[in-house]
Parts: sequence; structure tokens; C-alpha cells
Amino acid sequence: MLIVKKFGGTSVADKERILNVARRCKEEYDKGNEVVVVLSAMGKQTDVLLDMAKDINPNASKREMDMLLTTGEQTSVALMAMALDSMGVPAVSLNAFQVAMHTTSDYSNARLKRIDSERIRMELNQKRIVVITGFQGIDKYDNYTTLGRGGSDTTAVALAAALHADACEIYTDVDGVYTADPRIVKDARKLKEITYDEMLELASLGAGVLHNRSVEMAKKYGVQLVVRSSLNNNEGTIVKEETKMEKMLVSGVACDKNTARIAVIGLEDQPGVAFKLFNHLAHHNINVDIILQSVGRDGTKDISFTVSEDNADEAVEIIERHREGSLRCQKVDLDKNVAKVSVVGAGMMTNAGVAAKMFEALFDCGVNIKQIATSEIKVTVLIDQKYVEKAMEAVHDAFSLGDGK
Ligand code: ADP
Ligand code: ASP
Ligand code: MG
Repeated sequence: MLIVKKFGGTSVADKERILNVARRCKEEYDKGNEVVVVLSAMGKQTDVLLDMAKDINPNASKREMDMLLTTGEQTSVALMAMALDSMGVPAVSLNAFQVAMHTTSDYSNARLKRIDSERIRMELNQKRIVVITGFQGIDKYDNYTTLGRGGSDTTAVALAAALHADACEIYTDVDGVYTADPRIVKDARKLKEITYDEMLELASLGAGVLHNRSVEMAKKYGVQLVVRSSLNNNEGTIVKEETKMEKMLVSGVACDKNTARIAVIGLEDQPGVAFKLFNHLAHHNINVDIILQSVGRDGTKDISFTVSEDNADEAVEIIERHREGSLRCQKVDLDKNVAKVSVVGAGMMTNAGVAAKMFEALFDCGVNIKQIATSEIKVTVLIDQKYVEKAMEAVHDAFSLGDGK
């Protein structure tokens, strides 16, 4: 069997953890399996590197940022290969350049295009464990790129797809995917299984346990995932196309504090205004989320929408730049103190009342809703950031998702 195992930052945070992961990989290898290991940077190293860069130059180019960030993963793979070697297991570490993991040139948010599997196959044929840097790639000019925060999951799934692996295991610091972030909602319950679609919504709405693109890719290539802990042998959560369980009304609650709301007030109430606004943002690769347009009055209208907080200042700048030209408006408002809270569940498609129940739970705990968005399998509300924990608990409770402990 060929098994891809991915370990996140906490799982390789120090010497003991690295040795623990090496032991787990050795066990798999000793069973006669081919093992490909994907690693994140140690502990909070990516944040440390980001702070170092900010200190030297807050306006550093995205290219140099990615060049810097890739060193985090390079450190952990080399140390892991050394750890395996010390246990008598032949191993080799490879970075994105050595493997040849081709991506787009969108620094800090690149997309994987193609992975060459030749070198990995050659190393596996030599009976080595291959330890590969997560999160990074190279573009067509051989510049290093990164896949976005949490992107090592996507590297693992892409490798599993490219190598036609028999299993793709994501090891992290919790036992699996829970009905809510177990660090926020104490009563959260571990799910035995979850569909790609539900997991994709949860991940996209802030459940950082999996990078959303990794789920997108797993669905596209039919890679079944197991999410489990690197610190124990508890059964994890399986992420796959269809689950055996009856479609749950709500399978999870997620929140995302990395959100900001931009309100563009007093736009001309004419055809093409929304197009121009969002087109300018799209040109700068800024993703827009919950959009709300007011009813027009006196020839003007307001459009508000959310973007990730990292993009908020840039988005406002872009709009300001066009205020005198194609995007005439009265003012642009930015609110960073907001957060999204969402419920996700495939059962919503056939059951009315999920939104109402969520709103009731928020009303009962006195949380005001600023904006609402729905899809077939999710309801998202925008609220004041300071109420996130309270809102998560209340909504989780309202749908009886907990294990009652
Ligand atoms: P890694 O470094 O292993 O990639 P991450 O920090 O990226 O780990 O992801 C694991 C974290 O995801 C957990 O510690 C937990 O706080 C958070 N999380 C958010 N939502 C969920 C959820 N629904 N189920 C499990 N964990 C979640
Ligand atoms: N090290 C990167 C990050 O912290 C990638 C990852 O951990 O998946 O975002
Ligand atoms: Mg992660």
C-alpha cells in the first residue's frame, strides 16, 4: 500500500513530537508499506517568519514573503529525515522544487497545477520514506510560491491523487472533525464521517481543521481522507463522497473571525455598478463573500460585502481609487470587528426551519445579526466579533449537536 501521511505544525513542534511522528511513520514502513510524509513548519514557525518580515519591511514583496515562508517547511522535512535515519529507516527529504510541484504565480495563494511524481517514485523504489514540504510550490519561472495558510493539507491530497495513494491521512492536534471547533465549544462531538460537500462548506466557513482547497481537491479526485490525532490512536473522521448515516439536519457549526465588512454607501442606482465594483476587486484577486444590496432610493443604493480581513485595507484602497471615476459613491465604510458564524448540513436541503432556529438561538442570547447568507447546505450570519464564542455555543446547543458531557 502507498500511504500519504500529513502532520501539521503542532505535531512536529519540538524534538519529542518529531520523534513521535518518525516512530509512527516507521511503524507503517515496517509493515511493508510505501510511505510519503507531508509536513508543515514546526509549531508556530510560519507566524514567527511573518513577524520577522514585518519587522524588517512591512511592505515586503509577496515573492520574498513566499521565499521566506518556504524555509519553515524545509526545516521540518530535513529534521524528520534525520530522525528517521537515526531509527535506521532510510529516508529522504524533498522540497517543492526537488519534487517539482507546479503552481500558479499567485504568491501567498498559489494553486497547484501539476506534480511530477518521477522523483518520488524513484525514491520509493529505493525503499526510502519520502518526506515532502507541505504548503509550497514553484511557478513557471522557478520562483517559490505558497498555497495559503493551512495549505499543507492541500499538498498532501494533491500528492495522494498524483501518486494514486491507497490512503491519505491528515494527522493533527485534535481527534478528528468535530461538530464545532472543540477549543471554542466544549461540548463539541467528534464526527465518524462527513461528506466532501459538508466538509468543504465547514472548511470554507472557518473550520481550520482542513484547508478548504484540500477538500475541493479530495472531492475532485475521489481521495478519501482520514483526519486523526498524531498524539493517540483514536479513530478519526472519514471525509468522503457519501456517508452511511442519514443526512444530518446540521452536521457542524463554524466561525471565521478573519472577516471584515465593507459598505459602499450612495452608489449610483444604475446597471453595471455592481459589476464594476466587484470586477475591480476580482482584478486584484480579492475574494468577496456575503453580498448585500439595499433597495435603491433617490437614485442611489448601498452595497456591502465581506472580504477576508487580510484583504480589507487593499479592497478599500481599490474602491477609493475609483471613487472619482467609474465608481462614484458617497462613502466607504470598513468594519473589522465582525465574524461569521455558520451552520452546515446536507439535511437542510429537505428541511425547512434551519435558518429560523439559528436566528432564534442568536436572539435568545442577545446577539444581533448584521448580514445573512444562505446556500443549499449552509446558513451564515455576520455578527459582532466579540460575541462569537457565545453565539457558537448557543447555535451548537440549539441543534443538539453536543455529546452531552
Ligand atoms: P495542523 O497544524 O495540524 O494543520 P490546524 O491548527 O490547522 O492543525 O487545525 C487543527 C485545529 O482546527 C484544531 O486545533 C481546532 O482548534 C481547529 N478546528 C476548527 N474547527 C474544527 C472542527 N470542526 N473540528 C476539529 N477541529 C477544528
Ligand atoms: N505552515 C503553514 C501555515 O502555518 C502551512 C500549514 O501549516 O499547513 O499556514
Ligand atoms: Mg492546518
